[in-house]
Amino acid sequence: MIKKILLPTDGSDRSMDAVRYAISLAKQTNASILVLSVVDERFKSIETAPDPVAFMESAFVESAKTYVEAAENEIKKEGVTVDKSVRIGIPAVEIVKEAEKSEVDLIIMGSHGRTGLQSALLGSVTMSVIHRETNIPVLIVRKGVKI
Ligand code: ATP
Ligand code: MN
Repeated sequence: MIKKILLPTDGSDRSMDAVRYAISLAKQTNASILVLSVVDERFKSIETAPDPVAFMESAFVESAKTYVEAAENEIKKEGVTVDKSVRIGIPAVEIVKEAEKSEVDLIIMGSHGRTGLQSALLGSVTMSVIHRETNIPVLIVRKGVKI
């Protein structure tokens, strides 16, 4: 039974395909959606050196909030129950952590994201998520998916 879906997003067009797919599945199963964007902690050194407070207020965190809110609005518009989360860390690690903590039944993510390099079969975040140890299923939304 699918009651709760984790939807990681990086705000890219490709991840918006996953948003649309998740909305459709949530409607069919009466599930809720938890939208998550992870700010890569490796950006910390670029923007604010080691100051964690400054990083929390940085453009990286601000844009993650924007992506999450954009997805939240799309989902709300369709009448699906939605919650949101922004985390800082290694994206694939945080995605699986959030999935376990929130006890979701399914993770839905795009095959590609912001980089969108089609020569790679899967983007590195998706690749890492499917290789991590968890018993939560992962559904990968590929380009040209029919919804
Ligand atoms: P790469 O990042 O390896 O250069 P890419 O950007 O094309 O390639 P991924 O980053 O793996 O591919 O993106 C695939 C999917 O992973 C996205 O559609 C999105 O669902 C999810 N994702 C990627 N980055 C994040 C992030 N920082 N936070 C949450 N979800 C993410
Ligand atoms: Mn990426």
